[in-house]
Amino acid sequence: DLIKNEIMHKYKNMDWDDIAGLEYVKSIIKEAVVYPLLRPDIFTGLRRPPRGILLFGPPGTGKTLIGKCIASQSQSTFFSISSSALTSKWVGEGEKMVRALFAVAAVYQPSVVFIDEVDSLLSKRSESEHDSSRKLKNEFLVQLDGAATNDEDRVLIVGATNRPQELDDAARRRFARRLYIPLPEISARKQILKNLLGTVCNDLDESNIQEVGNQTKGYSGADMDILCREASMEPLRSIPPDQIPHIVKDNVRPVNIDDFMSALQSV
Ligand code: ATP
Repeated sequence: DLIKNEIMHKYKNMDWDDIAGLEYVKSIIKEAVVYPLLRPDIFTGLRRPPRGILLFGPPGTGKTLIGKCIASQSQSTFFSISSSALTSKWVGEGEKMVRALFAVAAVYQPSVVFIDEVDSLLSKRSESEHDSSRKLKNEFLVQLDGAATNDEDRVLIVGATNRPQELDDAARRRFARRLYIPLPEISARKQILKNLLGTVCNDLDESNIQEVGNQTKGYSGADMDILCREASMEPLRSIPPDQIPHIVKDNVRPVNIDDFMSALQSV
């Protein structure tokens, strides 16, 4: 019940266009894992898909978004868990949770099991490693192998990490496909900006978008999100606080380029 209520989700309406940029990554993922989940009858033998893929790169670049999109596009059930939840929330129960998780994922297949911060779950062995975390890791490796030996199984494991170098070699090998998810280029940043601006009244034109794009080099998608939220609050800040509860919605002015320039100072 815990798994069904807290970890299991269905994402019906996500589209690849919701993820800006990353065209190369998206095309590889479609071919390597999405089509095989949809048509397991065609993807057999040499075409058999990897059981695990690893998404690595800086934080906030869309790894979780990709996991959800794989599930949505392949009409799979999505299971999402982070290593810290396994090790902290269910202290001592982590091993049992992993076993239960994969059992439920097999029942609801096709399934995508997304493991965030996979490096801390499958890190290199250390002398001081706790017995419980070693057991948890072994159980996880067993499950990764278990899935790999069964042709009928339609459970894909997606690991995400910002620290791929921390991964144990044995674990890394099990993720047969490893994809780098970089920070967004200017075209992707502009796209993210346009998507986010679509949700609020604004008067930014193409040259304004280009301007914000130019000034956000090094920003992740998550940073762009924070920037846009900050800019969108600016029009409200020029209204006296005691008037906000009564203001007519149409009287709130559109978000403009100056709001972005202010937000860029603080974000
Ligand atoms: P972390 O490593 O911190 O878990 P992550 O790589 O999994 O981060 P996400 O959680 O997928 O990143 O992205 C965070 C938010 O940033 C998303 O909800 C989305 O708003 C935005 N975002 C990131 N990358 C993109 C992208 N390529 N296109 C559109 N939105 C993006």
